[in-house]
Amino acid sequence: MEPEGTDTNEMYLNGFSSSMPWEIQLEAIHKISALRDAKIYRPGYAIEYDYFDPTQLKHSLESKIIEGLFFAGQVNGTTGYEEAGGQGTVAGINAALLCSGNEPFIMNRDESYIGVLIDDLTTKGVDEPYRMFTSRAEYRILLRQDDADARLTERAYNIGIAKRDRYDWWIQKEKNINRILNFCDNTVVKPNIVNSFLDRIGSAPIKGSMKITDLVARPQVNFKNLSEVIPSLKEAIEASPNRIEEISEAAEIKMKYKGYIDRERVFAEKMHRLEDIKIKGHFNYSELHDLSTECRQKLEHVQPETLAQASRIPGVSPSDINVLLVLMGR
Ligand SMILES: Cc1cc2nc3c(=O)[nH]c(=O)nc-3n(C[C@H](O)[C@H](O)[C@H](O)COP(=O)(O)OP(=O)(O)OC[C@H]3O[C@@H](n4cnc5c(N)ncnc54)[C@H](O)[C@@H]3O)c2cc1C
Repeated sequence: MEPEGTDTNEMYLNGFSSSMPWEIQLEAIHKISALRDAKIYRPGYAIEYDYFDPTQLKHSLESKIIEGLFFAGQVNGTTGYEEAGGQGTVAGINAALLCSGNEPFIMNRDESYIGVLIDDLTTKGVDEPYRMFTSRAEYRILLRQDDADARLTERAYNIGIAKRDRYDWWIQKEKNINRILNFCDNTVVKPNIVNSFLDRIGSAPIKGSMKITDLVARPQVNFKNLSEVIPSLKEAIEASPNRIEEISEAAEIKMKYKGYIDRERVFAEKMHRLEDIKIKGHFNYSELHDLSTECRQKLEHVQPETLAQASRIPGVSPSDINVLLVLMGR
């Protein structure tokens, strides 16, 4: 926008919808009193595109209607390079698996952000261009940067998209992470060894012997500063043959956030149990009058495969899930 008679007060417009025809953009801007005389010299624009309803897809991204046809990317109602790339990878893998007569490769919501993305698309559908925000994932503590290999390397190796050396790297890393965790869990330190260090870093002194694991859980304590006063911890960390920093970071995170990680894992396992309860084809939803009308319509439309999928459909409440559980005899 450029106010009349000057070219020095040029402004870029942010946080204001610029997808309407430019006459409408101008009219809307003039409704803001400070901008009532503003002129536009270059209007904003929006990209329009069509998409197919992604609830018509299986989690493998294969069409439920046409066997062997896979969809990925913007055509599924997403926007963004990463969303398109992630889906393209999964659709490609599954097309290859289908051709070779293998089971589909599906990532769960607690295994990867791609798993969350595809589950959202195929069970909830989209009513506006979909972007993958971290806030869409309920298991963010399990989907960390430091543990992508723990979640996926073995699965990738099993379907032939990770080579043997990468798998071996991971196995070796896991062994060393566990070795450090065991060391910390089985080694106790006495007050006279650590109390002056704890005092220096502003952490409460210990009264009796304490496991290294419990000390590391304290916010001020980390492997680096603690290993300065406990040489055997330093030795345990440095005993990893390679990738020492990466391995010690992974072990430290597991120790520090154990409570949170365990709690989320329990919740994820509970959802997995619902995942095992297949409901597709079991019900004629329109006849289930114990369900809310909205729930009936949504289930009718989406036809979820499992009870867990049904629970994630907006409009399906926990009490609806209980009704279905009872009807399934559980
Ligand atoms: C101006 C602009 C800026 C953007 N900026 C960003 C950004 O900063 N960050 C970001 O993450 N995303 C951005 N996006 C979005 C991102 O580019 C798209 O979401 C992404 O590229 C979609 O990838 P896709 O593979 O699904 O589709 P496309 O990249 O559109 O690929 C589809 C391909 O199919 C081909 N095709 C179509 N019909 C046929 C046919 N009948 N036969 C054969 N081939 C066909 C097309 O030619 C095209 O090559 C931007 C998009 C635009 C338009």
